[in-house]
Amino acid sequence: MKLDVNALRYLTKDDFRVLTAVEMGMRNHEIVPAELVDRIAGLKHGGTYKVLRNLLKNKLVHHDATKYDGYRLTYLGYDFLAIKTLVNRGVFASVGRQIGVGKESDIFEVAAEDGTVLAMKLHRLGRTSFRAVKSKRDYLRHRRSFNWLYLSRLAALKEFAFMKALGDHGFPVPTAVDCNRHCVIMSLVQGYPLVQVKELQNPDDVFDTILGLIVRLAEHGLIHCDFNEFNIMIDDDEKITVIDFPQMVSVSHRNAQMFFDRDIECIYKFFNKRFNLKSEKNEEQEESDSDDEGNSRPSFLSVKKAAGSLDKELAASGFTRKEQVEMEKYIEEDAEGQHSSSDDDDEEEEEVADAVPIDSLKIDQDRSDVLDCNLASRNSGEPGTFSEEHGT
Ligand code: ADP
Ligand code: MG
Repeated sequence: MKLDVNALRYLTKDDFRVLTAVEMGMRNHEIVPAELVDRIAGLKHGGTYKVLRNLLKNKLVHHDATKYDGYRLTYLGYDFLAIKTLVNRGVFASVGRQIGVGKESDIFEVAAEDGTVLAMKLHRLGRTSFRAVKSKRDYLRHRRSFNWLYLSRLAALKEFAFMKALGDHGFPVPTAVDCNRHCVIMSLVQGYPLVQVKELQNPDDVFDTILGLIVRLAEHGLIHCDFNEFNIMIDDDEKITVIDFPQMVSVSHRNAQMFFDRDIECIYKFFNKRFNLKSEKNEEQEESDSDDEGNSRPSFLSVKKAAGSLDKELAASGFTRKEQVEMEKYIEEDAEGQHSSSDDDDEEEEEVADAVPIDSLKIDQDRSDVLDCNLASRNSGEPGTFSEEHGT
């Protein structure tokens, strides 16, 4: 579905006021009654209803009249609220091209006033798994559709807290810049995801560095849980940067060993397949102390013995135990949901997935209440980008 990002240019103070009112109403309503939106927004002369129609036209809210006249935010509406907040804070001033589409996120370049380019990750929990889960598990359907906003915010908060802590402890991760709602701003990593790299100068060194990182993380009390060629960036000097942290767990998690082994296994598999490291590593293994399978992989138990307490530090920081538990529940349900067959429900999927294409917008600093769009630099023709149809 194509969307009109140009709408941002015309959004006024009142529009944002009503959008924020819908967001506030969603704290305890899946669909926020229009009257409640009106009461929270407090615009005079029925102004709220007019604004709601405008927001609906621009797909920033979704209208639902099944039970009563009500509205809820779309991801695009949520995106705009986060973007506006971060722009007002002076974190960045314009949004550029989309540089990544993750399983449950969209990543864009953004530029600060001084021209520094950063990366903006918008979390989209529920985007891929919602459909599969929906038909099977009714109780989840409600919780999930009600909570996508909350879960996406949690994912962003967790990712930001972990990125910051890992950076502070010298891990090669992007610099965590700021976070608002479901949106994380970080430094832009130079290079490419490892999955795109066909050849390496020093595959052995890269392999050792990466394995070393998994071990060092565990020594600090943490497991990445999605440590693979998609979440490892590598630059021309073969320097590694690890990204994507919402699913990290503590080494004291009940499935920690399995997660740790799985991360290690992913790296072995990828390097065997892509860089043919198998034979050399096998020779090394024959000479070294190996287990029953002739395997000298890093062992979770020995690493765990030395484990530090970054996991506990993080638990004590912005990301609380309760939030951690909620995220883990989601991740587990998500994993189950992926395995169940997916019955089509296009309408519902569209609702959840309808916010991909912010393309390029420039914020007009002279008019702090109005967002201005600059579409000049957009890459036309990319999937999911803004179409020319606006205003028609
Ligand atoms: P997901 O959680 O959806 O997998 P990721 O954080 O892995 O999202 O990001 C998806 C893709 O976006 C990455 O594979 C990478 O290509 C790109 N990306 C993410 N963060 C950055 C960054 N800081 N700098 C440059 N590219 C990034
Ligand atoms: Mg990823």
